[in-house]
Amino acid sequence: MKLYNTLTRKKEDFSPMDGKCVRMYSCGPTVYNYAHIGNLRTYIFMDLLRRTLKYEGYKIKGVMNITDVGHLLSDSDDGEDKMQKAAREQNKNPYEIAEYYTKVFFEDLNKLNIGKPEITPKATDHIPDMIKYVEGLIEKGAAYETADGIYFDISKFPKYGMLSGIKLEEQQAGARVEVNDGKRHPADFALWKKAPKEHIMQWDSPWGKSYPGWHIECSAMSKKYLGEVFDIHTGGVDHIPIHHENEIAQSETLTGKNPARFWMHGEFMLVNGGKMSKSLGNTYTIAQLEQMGYKPMHFRYFCLNAHYRKKLNFTFEGLDAAKVSYERLGSLLLKHKASPAKTDEKLLVDYKKQFEDNITDDLNVPGALGVLWTMLKEPFSKDIYELALDFDRVFGLSLADYKEEKQELDVPAEVKAIAEERFEARKNKDWAKSDELRNKLAELGYSVKDSKDGYELSVKE
Ligand code: AMP
Ligand code: ZN
Repeated sequence: MKLYNTLTRKKEDFSPMDGKCVRMYSCGPTVYNYAHIGNLRTYIFMDLLRRTLKYEGYKIKGVMNITDVGHLLSDSDDGEDKMQKAAREQNKNPYEIAEYYTKVFFEDLNKLNIGKPEITPKATDHIPDMIKYVEGLIEKGAAYETADGIYFDISKFPKYGMLSGIKLEEQQAGARVEVNDGKRHPADFALWKKAPKEHIMQWDSPWGKSYPGWHIECSAMSKKYLGEVFDIHTGGVDHIPIHHENEIAQSETLTGKNPARFWMHGEFMLVNGGKMSKSLGNTYTIAQLEQMGYKPMHFRYFCLNAHYRKKLNFTFEGLDAAKVSYERLGSLLLKHKASPAKTDEKLLVDYKKQFEDNITDDLNVPGALGVLWTMLKEPFSKDIYELALDFDRVFGLSLADYKEEKQELDVPAEVKAIAEERFEARKNKDWAKSDELRNKLAELGYSVKDSKDGYELSVKE
């Protein structure tokens, strides 16, 4: 299969290093708030990759970290720790905040059928691993201490910028001069932060009471669980220029090797063509979409319609269209399920091949959905239903559990009155009257189905 590698800027043939099991690291959430639909798009991308690899017969050892300390307001190590800020604003302990939002995050993944990676380590459980990592970098002469922390000396890693293609000189020219006297170069980044007294999450370290920087978390945890070099590293495109450059700089300096063979990035979700941000009030959560009457699968379908390397513009018109398509897909599928007819084996093999050609071409999921739609237009057959469920191992659209939503019938008052009268007649065991009223309903274009303690009206076919 082919995957696009940000590192080489091209699609490359992929197979895991050991031929069987894909070792994969995904940058996880910072658990100080609810995940918004943009964040979730990135995890849907991770999930599609995991599902495709599994479909192709590989095993997966996936690690996704939970950042519960050290992610500062700006990715380039400015400002307050996001956890600490949320704790202050909500008047809670940061550990409580982390626990609550981690729980909701996993519930969101579950609603969206995003498989939970095999290992989901928390940063706060790995402080000793990170300290050791930083000590290693100091020993290599690539890190130095200032009044407020330990910084990575970017001049010791001339390849800095290899992932984003941004040269250090360009970064330097564009960099804001930060109020941080101790730093040797504006792009030097914090490995470790000395904790001000009010910082609740702090640990003893060789550098006094302190806490880890964000970038070191991913390097230390990926190395611990996946080794010095693993197969794939994923994240959102915003991580390319800082977070992932920093991970590479740390790892290559310590081990001499780039930690991941493939670096893969999901493009951003926009809202109404612009940035998604809390101040604009356009950062929806899955719970909010549910309150508006959408199923999580409508949102998943919406995301599947765009390739992961293309920007996706979220609008409610777009989500409505996804909802209609998903429901149409489901009801078509039920018709195939109900049909005893067979489909020619050759045709099925051909559809499966087309499907696989798409997913193994750098996860062309929109293309694979196109194959599914074409296939569903074939004469109804249970074989097609079965093959659609096989494809759904990748789509993750819960097609096996699909149930048609009962449409509330807009029944005229006159019809409703007759149906009620008939219901009364049945209760009184007046079968003759009941039959007569059934005929009357039929004349008006309605059929009625009786149940133990009620009835259901539908439009006569
Ligand atoms: P965070 O919790 O802020 O670290 O973000 C979690 C993940 O969501 C990261 O992989 C980000 O790259 C990703 N992300 C943030 N905003 C968006 C967006 N608008 N669209 C897609 N992914 C995003
Ligand atoms: Zn990370």
